[in-house]
Amino acid sequence: MRIFARAVIAVALSTVAVLAPIAAAPAHAEAPKSLKKEVAAEVEAQRKQIQVMVDQIFSFAEPGFQEIRTSEYLTDILAKNGFTITKGVADIPTAFTAIWGEGGPKIALGSDIDDVLGVSQMPGVPYLKPMIEGAPGHGEGHNSGMPMMVAAAIATKKVMEKHGIKGRLMLWPGVAEELLATKAYYVRAGMFKDVDASIFGHVSNDFSTGYGEMGNNGLISVEYSFKGKTAHSAGMPWEGRSALDAVEIMDVAWNFRREHLPLTQRSHMIITNGGGQPNVVPDKASIWYFFRERTFDDIRKLYEVGNDIAKAAALATGTTMTQQTLGYAAPNFGNKPLAEAAFANIKAVGMPKWSADDQAFAKAVQSFNNRKIEPLKDEVTPLSTPESRKPSTGGGSDDIGDIMWAVPTITIRYPSNIPNMIGHNAIAAIAMATPIAHKGVEAGAKAVAMTVLDLLTTPKLIADAKAYFKDVQLKTDTYAPILTDEDVPAIWLNERNMALYRPLMEKYYYDPSKYDTYLDQLGVKYPMLEGPAE
Ligand SMILES: [Zn+2]
Repeated sequence: MRIFARAVIAVALSTVAVLAPIAAAPAHAEAPKSLKKEVAAEVEAQRKQIQVMVDQIFSFAEPGFQEIRTSEYLTDILAKNGFTITKGVADIPTAFTAIWGEGGPKIALGSDIDDVLGVSQMPGVPYLKPMIEGAPGHGEGHNSGMPMMVAAAIATKKVMEKHGIKGRLMLWPGVAEELLATKAYYVRAGMFKDVDASIFGHVSNDFSTGYGEMGNNGLISVEYSFKGKTAHSAGMPWEGRSALDAVEIMDVAWNFRREHLPLTQRSHMIITNGGGQPNVVPDKASIWYFFRERTFDDIRKLYEVGNDIAKAAALATGTTMTQQTLGYAAPNFGNKPLAEAAFANIKAVGMPKWSADDQAFAKAVQSFNNRKIEPLKDEVTPLSTPESRKPSTGGGSDDIGDIMWAVPTITIRYPSNIPNMIGHNAIAAIAMATPIAHKGVEAGAKAVAMTVLDLLTTPKLIADAKAYFKDVQLKTDTYAPILTDEDVPAIWLNERNMALYRPLMEKYYYDPSKYDTYLDQLGVKYPMLEGPAE
């Protein structure tokens, strides 16, 4: 099926190539240049507000399902700007939709808002320095995505009002993306039912987009819990049945089996409960696995291997096993017409104008953390296509995949971070409340807003996007998430973590009424180029 779909694309491309010299038509229908100039100016007019939003959410630093302050903050801004807010969508307390406009196409704009456990970091300090040891932090840069979408939406709304352009904008946050735990539920709840096209944003050190099978893995996140029987570990161990033994056997068995799994799989685990104390045979123990693969079917097969091994571990230890799905993510598939439209806008916007200070700071961060020295990029990245990408050997996941299989969707990656950082590490948080992050968000917001205008003013673009979705994407695979009707969003996750850390974090919340920037509040001079004291 995939070969057939590629052949169709190849034929279509060769037709364009033949016609191009005669017609010299643009690759896609687009909005008038004058409107795009206006919307870019409306984004620039929000430069201060972009900085405040990026810094504020950085300071909240909330992990998945605990994005309480972040969600309140964003919905307040959107409500003040005339958007109609619905909170708690898909039975997820920190999820919402914010909708404005009437008639015309409905365009969804979203980005993630949660952060990563244990990677607290002082922004603007070029070496590792936790703000609060052990607390969560924005070591993925998810503090920047919704500020970009909010700025893009407000700018677009102004241009729509001024010129009487019909259309509806729906903003939504990626809650608990680090847990891959909500977007399949958004789709299941019908949040994207009447959406015509969707643009997702993700932080990067480059400015790019792409289409086709994006080559990453989808996944299922599942926790296995074993139940045994307590006994005195020394006095009468024969009376006990250890749930922890089952957890350990499951792990050992999985790691032997790993050798005989496809090279594209990724699987990893943590032990969420390993018992109480050594002299009590643990009657309860749990292990949490992520099983990642390239296609819906292969994710399911990998999951079934995991289920078999969990059952075998229970059998081997005389315990019983129950399992709970904690998240799901579909493989990503970008929409070609949308990606081409967005890419033209990315090129038109270009990279942010980095200052000598920005470049000096990036270099300091790279050198103090033993990363490859490479300047902030000064050129946008070429459009990523199935032909330009290397064959996939698997990798990470992003649950935007589920939305990509519901409506035509692309991801725009915007340049708010420094090259060669380590993902899910505190060093990736260093730049995320500095001018580097702010400038990248402004550039990204312009490209998003210009692409939304393309969608609103040229019905052909939406028609082409829908045709590609139906005639190309849906012929490669069928959306088949591993979720049952009994599965519910795992909204209890990270509750205990935040009960511990939130009181310590509150005194670091950014107060824009007192300080120009978050770095000012923290007393960090930009660019800080000195290393740690010896
Ligand atoms: Zn992310």
